[in-house]
Amino acid sequence: MTRPTQAIIYLSALRANVQRIRELAPKQKIIAVIKADAYGHGAVRVATALTGLVEMFAVCSLEEALILRQAGIDAPILLLEGFFSADELTTIATQKIEIAVHTQGQVDSLLAAKLPIKVWLKVDTGMHRLGFLPDEVELAWKRLNQCDVLLKPISLMSHFSSADERDSKINMEQIRIFDELRKKIQVESSLANSAGVLAWSAAHYQWVRPGIMLYGVSPFSNTVAKDEGLQSVMQFQSALISVKQYRKGEPIGYGATWRCPQAMPVGVVAAGYADGYPRHAPSGTPILVNGRRVPLIGRVSMDMLAVDLRSQPNAKIGDTVVLWGRNLPVEEIAILSGTIAYELLCHISPRVPRIERT
Ligand SMILES: *Cc1c(COP(=O)(O)O)cnc(C)c1O
Repeated sequence: MTRPTQAIIYLSALRANVQRIRELAPKQKIIAVIKADAYGHGAVRVATALTGLVEMFAVCSLEEALILRQAGIDAPILLLEGFFSADELTTIATQKIEIAVHTQGQVDSLLAAKLPIKVWLKVDTGMHRLGFLPDEVELAWKRLNQCDVLLKPISLMSHFSSADERDSKINMEQIRIFDELRKKIQVESSLANSAGVLAWSAAHYQWVRPGIMLYGVSPFSNTVAKDEGLQSVMQFQSALISVKQYRKGEPIGYGATWRCPQAMPVGVVAAGYADGYPRHAPSGTPILVNGRRVPLIGRVSMDMLAVDLRSQPNAKIGDTVVLWGRNLPVEEIAILSGTIAYELLCHISPRVPRIERT
């Protein structure tokens, strides 16, 4: 008997979500964003499942890219933060890894290194995180083009700042700024993350860069996967490991923050914040026991949490518990916990086994 806490990864859902991306962006090439261990789903697993279905992968760092290469993934890989020091460049060139470039210092390093590397110039169209401002891009682009060894063409990319808001004017302004620049530099470009794929076809250009939607999660703050035609890929589940009856007024868990309003059954689930369940989930957050919603009660512990079983008097030790998944949107748990689904997925801890299902 092992601890029942698991993250089931449904590969068929993953592939269905890629199909959905193809429908939305039929003429575009897809860069599947699998940084942070594919948002907690396992980067090698996801890359293997998507090989042949997408044109490129994107990760955060060379270390993340090399894990894929060592697993035999040979599709192009884009480093979204580029390189951090010039001594990474030889490996980047030999491993056929593409890079975002966002500072003059990086341009200097590339010109000095003279290596055959494919570059995506990162443009700051308004997010003000990484990238050259629109009026700095041409100079960087010209300097890079003077180097015969760098792979051509140098492409352009940018990123949305307000992707969770479908109607934000900021996104439209970013598209306008990017379009202005693309009148001067006519090369293959990429702007759309998941929100862009779903909502702004003007931002599709030649390459789309979906992340969260691959995993069957809505990027918007007011919809869930089903509303966007997506299938959730991860089911985070465990089981009841204790069921007991308490008297009216008895406290439950750390800090005695919740008291039984009447005599009632309480279940303990083998999942806590050390597994990646959010400690800030309040009492009342839904949890599925045998497929039916029951409320979380009291504080989430490191390894356990408690549920109110009044609506399920027959629940017993060993019964299946779902923390989130296709029948309980992770988006809903995220909102109740004051965070976003991205963070919950990334925070599933290494001690939770990922179990693949086709
Ligand atoms: C993470 C990331 C993406 C994917 O964003 P989603 O909202 O998960 O689709 C795309 N582009 C860049 C630069 C990113 O950092």
